[in-house]
Amino acid sequence: MFFLFGLTTREQLRFTRSASCRYCGQFAPQQVVQRKTKLSVFFVPLLTLKRTRLQVCTNCGGTSRISGSEEHALAR
Ligand SMILES: [Zn+2]
Repeated sequence: MFFLFGLTTREQLRFTRSASCRYCGQFAPQQVVQRKTKLSVFFVPLLTLKRTRLQVCTNCGGTSRISGSEEHALAR
């Protein structure tokens, strides 16, 4: 029997909001990105193994991991 396993990581832009950056301190558009790592069998994604939310500053490129409640606070 032969199985082909793999991991696939995809990023999806959720939304963009203007907020102050924690790195450069500028009031600049902040992108909220969701990154998912999926287990795939024969190139078909089956299970989501890891899900992280990132806040990316469009001014300086500073990236930080945020929680779900921080994402909801930014979405308002
Ligand atoms: Zn910044």
